[in-house]
Amino acid sequence: MLTNLRFQCPISKEDEKKLKLSRLAGHHLYVNFGADMGRRSFRKQPLPFLEKVEVIDAGAEGKAVARVNNRVVFIPFGVPGDIVDVQVTKKKKSFFEARIVHFHEYSPFRIEPVCEHFGLCGGCRWQNMSYDKQLFFKQKQVKDHFDRIGKFDYPEIRPILASEDVFFYRNKLDYTFSSRKWFTGQKPETGENVDCNGIGFHLIGMFDRIIDIEKCHLQPDPSNEIRLAVREYSLSKGLSFYDAKTWEGLLRNLIIRNTLSGQLMVIIVFRDDEEEIIRELLQHVKETIPAITSLMYVINPKKNDDISDLEIRLFHGNPYILEELTAFHANDPQLKFKIGPVSFFQTNAKQAALLYHVAAEMAGFQGHETVYDLYSGAGAIACYVSKYVRKVVGLESIPSAVADAGENAVLNGITNVTFHAGDIAKILNQEFFEANGRPDIIITDPPRNGMHGKVIDQILAAMPQKVIYISCNPATQARDIRLMSDLYEIKAVQPADMFPHTQHVENVMLMERK
Ligand code: SAH
Repeated sequence: MLTNLRFQCPISKEDEKKLKLSRLAGHHLYVNFGADMGRRSFRKQPLPFLEKVEVIDAGAEGKAVARVNNRVVFIPFGVPGDIVDVQVTKKKKSFFEARIVHFHEYSPFRIEPVCEHFGLCGGCRWQNMSYDKQLFFKQKQVKDHFDRIGKFDYPEIRPILASEDVFFYRNKLDYTFSSRKWFTGQKPETGENVDCNGIGFHLIGMFDRIIDIEKCHLQPDPSNEIRLAVREYSLSKGLSFYDAKTWEGLLRNLIIRNTLSGQLMVIIVFRDDEEEIIRELLQHVKETIPAITSLMYVINPKKNDDISDLEIRLFHGNPYILEELTAFHANDPQLKFKIGPVSFFQTNAKQAALLYHVAAEMAGFQGHETVYDLYSGAGAIACYVSKYVRKVVGLESIPSAVADAGENAVLNGITNVTFHAGDIAKILNQEFFEANGRPDIIITDPPRNGMHGKVIDQILAAMPQKVIYISCNPATQARDIRLMSDLYEIKAVQPADMFPHTQHVENVMLMERK
């Protein structure tokens, strides 16, 4: 039964074809049929149809995994334990990608997703799997990467730390405005005048299409209220929404950040400096949502969405929000952090306190150490560990985050930390170590792509007694640690869940010099 149709906007002949095809395929609810459906109809060789396939794993990219005749088959939105018929949509030498066409058996771990946008939105791909199973597969992901990529010895991986909140746990969401929203539900007539403007998240695998979000379950109120108010106002005033294909349209992004202490930052990104229109929109937002403590805007005429190199203008309130970290343990540091518009802060703040607690506990500080905090963001880790050690040296590439880090040290009365701005691959060298002191312990927390080879070389040259590696991507973590495993022994591995309902897993590791 076809229960959830989706159409590109505006309705085209191509959509008509897709509709016909998807009816023939007998799609189930939540099965995403991507942009390639149209092209598929012109293929001469039909792609294989696989019957009674058992889903056996939940893969790293959020796709479930089956194995058929020794070939891996990736099945989006499958749940381990499902027995399904699948239509192959992509055929590669080493794997197939396929979509579910029929269920023979539903996995016992399958649950009803809470979100109406599940299946289309790239956000919470595991929402149809029970939370304890999500944790199981995250833990397994760490082990699989260590075994397949790392190939080093490691002690038993500690049981993953669950997130206290499984919904409304994020403190930052970045929405995209688009003039090419994806339609769901009732099919409009061909050529009918429909409103194609929307604001939400990208459709899985499509950079230029968004799903117009009605309710997102990731960020606490008034996040949804803000997005809906901005959408309603913009539609009623006929403001133009951005088109990522033609790079036209005024409204580009809406970023909402909040803190556990209730502060709220809203940043609206525009393509052009339309002063009056911008002022009226911001005034409306300010009046409609009085809880906003920081209202900012950016003019981004570039083709990419990165705003970290642009001037962020303040319209109302403070140019930052204040986060107060709730200590995980009574003896843990109680810290406040000023977070500017482009500074990184852990997105699940409650879990951040737990993550830092684990890192500090693993380090087993004695008090005399010089510690390096690589990829230091707004200085959270450096400030956290400062009371346990002699001094901390932080390195971070975004200058305004370095400025925030300096202010955060002052705000918390910390005097034994320094922060340095620059690309770590360039600034971390012998000269830097000589000027700032040899590290006894290095804590590194790089972005998803892991550490640059030069950074690893410098760590090995400095030979600290211990390295604590915090990672949001165990695949790159395994790759990096492999390069260090001749000289370092892995002593502890602790995964943590920062992002329930997604395939992402955070992992903290302790390494000691052999
Ligand atoms: N440790 C911090 C932030 C970690 S996120 C915390 O717990 O809050 C990773 C940080 O690395 C981001 O702030 C990002 O701006 C920074 N970064 C990314 N690439 C970098 C590079 N090549 N050199 C220095 N910093 C970098």
